[in-house]
Amino acid sequence: MTARGAGDSPSLQFLGAAGTVTGSKFLVRSGGRQVLLDCGLFQGLRELRLRNWEPRFDGAAIDAVVLSHAHVDHSGALPVLVKGGFRGRVHCTAGTADLLEVLLRDAAKLQEEEARAANRYGYSKHDPALPLFTTEDAEHALSRVVAHAYEKPFAVVPGVTAVLRRAGHILGAATVELRLTDVSPPATLVFSGDLGRWDRPIMRDPELVAGADVVLVESTYGDRTHATNPVEELARVVREAAGRGGALLIPAFAVGRTQELLWLLRELEEADRIPSLPVFVDSPMAIDVTGIYGRHPEDLDAAFKGRLGRGGAPLRCRDLTLVRDAAASKALNARTGPLIVIAGSGMATGGRILHHLKMRLPDTRTTVLLPGFQAEGTRGRALAEGAPSVRIHGQVIPVRARVATLDGLSAHADRNELLRWLRGFERPPRMTYVVHGEPHAARSLADAVRAQLGWAVAVAEDDAVVPLAG
Ligand code: ZN
Repeated sequence: MTARGAGDSPSLQFLGAAGTVTGSKFLVRSGGRQVLLDCGLFQGLRELRLRNWEPRFDGAAIDAVVLSHAHVDHSGALPVLVKGGFRGRVHCTAGTADLLEVLLRDAAKLQEEEARAANRYGYSKHDPALPLFTTEDAEHALSRVVAHAYEKPFAVVPGVTAVLRRAGHILGAATVELRLTDVSPPATLVFSGDLGRWDRPIMRDPELVAGADVVLVESTYGDRTHATNPVEELARVVREAAGRGGALLIPAFAVGRTQELLWLLRELEEADRIPSLPVFVDSPMAIDVTGIYGRHPEDLDAAFKGRLGRGGAPLRCRDLTLVRDAAASKALNARTGPLIVIAGSGMATGGRILHHLKMRLPDTRTTVLLPGFQAEGTRGRALAEGAPSVRIHGQVIPVRARVATLDGLSAHADRNELLRWLRGFERPPRMTYVVHGEPHAARSLADAVRAQLGWAVAVAEDDAVVPLAG
């Protein structure tokens, strides 16, 4: 445990999402206290996932956690932290708190299933293979969560105050402002979390932040701009998929993407821009999450609330089936004719989408739509890059399906939108660090910040410690 002393100058350490898009974790040290900003799991490449087993901090020494949002690459290491002795509070918005209940329990279940499978088939180096964390660890983590309203300052630890503002990314997603009040002069750190987009369905727009000494900005799409009309593109993919007479398989995150797809499919149906196809949401988690959306008007835009207010079902297209049961999910394999299956995981790394892909990728009538960012090392990325085959459950599956990508549906701000948010600061921060991006994307955004805004900026280096006070 660090000694608490007034002389400690505040610092920030990059413990994840530096040079990569997952494992979001930033350690703030100030006045002898330690506050973790996000506590995410590394995902994707094996060498990254292995880092989840070697936390580079002492859970018992962390005083509090502030979460930007519930996605597991920002929250999924909370059970590991608690297992490591953390006994502080986890601060987040009300929407995030509700989503964590679903996401952390699901993450624990996946860990337990993986360990069981590894023991059954003997493919782990460890004997017996253990889960990274258990359902019990997840429950302990959930018991530490405290929900806060947007825009209302709250105390994180003595000497550190936080304000959460809408990030527009998924339900409950926030930018995080940390004010370090016991240093002189006080220092302010603002973290973008995952930034969403302006004028998108369901979610309210990102809110601008007026000032900061140090800014952490994500860069998932730091080197790209999104297609201008993803809705027309979606309509075209659906019409063409229907014309081919096969299934349209959409790997989608249970949180955010699934709900946006459901909203858009209903809108397109009502406008007669697509035929009404049977739509199956094959994900118990997505079904739970969809229910949570209606409980958080503080996150929702006027159009969504208007529909809810008129007693409408904003996320219900004409022929919608919610599939909870695993047997009903398998039974979908036998269905023929045009249909749409939305299932997790979003990058086809696991989940029910795998058995649909395994069954239908070899069929030329099938269409696969990848509606968002596909990280390096994932099956989704391989499909997006035109791989002739993919491995699923140990089998080589030939890809004869048509594969379409739809970047414009991303829940992430593109390069122009990231710069739009940064321009909201009324004066240049002393320093800006670019995080949460693959190396090219992060460098490209840093170059743009330097050239267009004239700010001092650097790409965050993993493990580096940087000062927070001037
Ligand atoms: Zn996210």
